Amino acid sequence: MAERITGHTELIGLMAYPIRHSSSPAMQNEAFAKLGYDYAYLAFEVGADEIEDAVKAIRTLKMRGSNVSMPNKTLVGQYLDELSPAARLCGAVNTIVNDNGHLTGHITDGIGFMQSLKDNDIDVIGKKMTIVGAGGAGTAIQIQAALDGVKEIAIFNQKDEAWARAEDTVQKINSQTSCHATLYDLADLDKLREEMNDSYLFVNATGVGMKPLEDLSVVPDESYFRPELIVVDVPYSPLETKMRAMAKKAGCKTMNGLGMMLFQGSAAFELWTGEPMPIEHMKEILNIRYDD
Ligand code: NAD
Repeated sequence: MAERITGHTELIGLMAYPIRHSSSPAMQNEAFAKLGYDYAYLAFEVGADEIEDAVKAIRTLKMRGSNVSMPNKTLVGQYLDELSPAARLCGAVNTIVNDNGHLTGHITDGIGFMQSLKDNDIDVIGKKMTIVGAGGAGTAIQIQAALDGVKEIAIFNQKDEAWARAEDTVQKINSQTSCHATLYDLADLDKLREEMNDSYLFVNATGVGMKPLEDLSVVPDESYFRPELIVVDVPYSPLETKMRAMAKKAGCKTMNGLGMMLFQGSAAFELWTGEPMPIEHMKEILNIRYDD
């Protein structure tokens, strides 16, 4: 590190609270070092009442950019100069790029999800997917899938605070992309079975499967899965969820959420540097396997 950091090294941040647990600094700094980029990536504890000042600091310190996580993803856009189409449609930003004082906000979660499918030879373009969950992760996936050319998306959510966001996403997808989206109540299990049966890909983008909901599954039992259905979990801790265990038993190809995590970081890296992360190296060094 003493050799790597010089007077020329540029700073890239991660602004969120809490954030000390994040694996992004290790991931980004490893990729910068591997490809020889003179950037240093550091995590900063920035809460909702500090994000406006933190954005000013990006300009003042002439940082190359930043990642942004909770609680700032939906707040930071108003302080930026421009938003990518996906960030505008999602109403959320996780990556800021500073081009000589002009700050652009991007959302790379959906890009990462779509790239992780491609990396695992899963081609959902022109096909139908069913997705449970319409919070931050679910919305980013739905918007990017629609922008990339997925033909139809069936969205299921319980009637909680994410429901209104799901209604808004469906309206935006149907009016601003060529994809057709429909929203259903997750309590309608006959509909869930019907839509899953008609889909190429099924995605769980809820916190179900992750602590403290690790004993639950959004799909009631194995009979909902047919062997041809590809099943992706967005949660990745624990890696093996109850839902994915059921899908595997039914003979489905499955994927955990580490792919999305890796590729959302790679997409941000590419926005700052112009080239993607050295993916095979990152998989090896971080011990990432998501195609199980
Ligand atoms: P969020 O709080 O914004 O949304 C939570 C979603 O889960 C909502 O749709 C909500 O309705 C649903 N939900 C909550 N409890 C439920 C229950 N008991 N039954 C059914 N649905 C329920 O959260 P988020 O940021 O969208 O994150 C969702 C999951 O995705 C988390 O597990 C998170 O760790 C994971 N995630 C993974 C990645 C990645 O890179 N793999 C990135 C972001 C989030």
